[in-house]
Amino acid sequence: MKFILLLFVTLATASVAAAERPIAIVIHGGAGALERGRYSAEEEAAFRDKLTEALDAGYAVLDEGGAALDAVEAAIVILEDAPMFNAGKGAVFTREGKNELDASVMDGATKNAGAVAGVTTVKNPIKLARAVMEDSRHVMFAREGAEAFAEEQGIERVDPDYFYTEKRWDALQKAIAKDKSQQKGELSIDRKFGTVGAVALDAAGNLAAGTSTGGMTMKQWGRVGDSPIIGAGTYADNASCAVSATGHGEFFIRLTLARDICAQVEYGERSVEDATRDMIHNRLTGMNAEGGVIVLGKDGDYAMAFNSAGMFRGVKTAVETRVGIYGTEP
Ligand code: ASP
Repeated sequence: MKFILLLFVTLATASVAAAERPIAIVIHGGAGALERGRYSAEEEAAFRDKLTEALDAGYAVLDEGGAALDAVEAAIVILEDAPMFNAGKGAVFTREGKNELDASVMDGATKNAGAVAGVTTVKNPIKLARAVMEDSRHVMFAREGAEAFAEEQGIERVDPDYFYTEKRWDALQKAIAKDKSQQKGELSIDRKFGTVGAVALDAAGNLAAGTSTGGMTMKQWGRVGDSPIIGAGTYADNASCAVSATGHGEFFIRLTLARDICAQVEYGERSVEDATRDMIHNRLTGMNAEGGVIVLGKDGDYAMAFNSAGMFRGVKTAVETRVGIYGTEP
């Protein structure tokens, strides 16, 4: 009898705790020189609508009791399919006029991860990254090997022309023209990065993070940025936080930026906000580099920080839905 009573009490407590568990999704669509006035009112509205659509799709998964990983994937697929962001359709061009896509995903519950680099025919690289995580013994596949794995897994592939957008093509032509005046060794930066990413916390207390990108305009053949590098552009661990980054990837790799934020939270017992601020405003800025991150902690506390003029971003929880572009928005 005593045992039954005890069991009942334990279950009752668990269900109360479950009901009170926060769910949340935070997304970004890239950081950079996003000053007010850069976009027309219609363009700005289109960005905000698309961010809201991605937030809603991810949140719906969480609200129905779904997994953080599914929420991250649902949000990112919408952003990959939107030509206005530098991921999937709308990805920037390499120096040779190609679109080479990178993506990664991480499961905070298992610390399992998957990533792909330099794919040219995979419609939604985030889906392939997830397949690498769940259906292979490896963490990262690159180029032809990644495409072959996509074929094997039945992941949708498209003609490389699918990724073409006039806006990105024009950006490449401008970058090529500007290149002559650039210092040797300097990477051409279309200072509006446009990578997409999502982090989510589900009702079971699991965190997940994902990032997808076309990289940087006029990147050199074979160049891989931080987005598919676990610990640089993406990281998730239920013990600390989930992170997705955007910005000048070479610096995010050197700083192991995503992992460092979670390590500060885990070992340094710093708040998500403090750890994020330190990485962006002290360490990234200290290296003269630009970008931003979204971070979600295990208790639902979150941060969206950047040292560029703006960052496409959004958050949805039980109590708020908010999207932003400029640095001066709340
Ligand atoms: N981080 C990406 C890269 O370096 C670029 C971006 O965030 O837009 O490839």
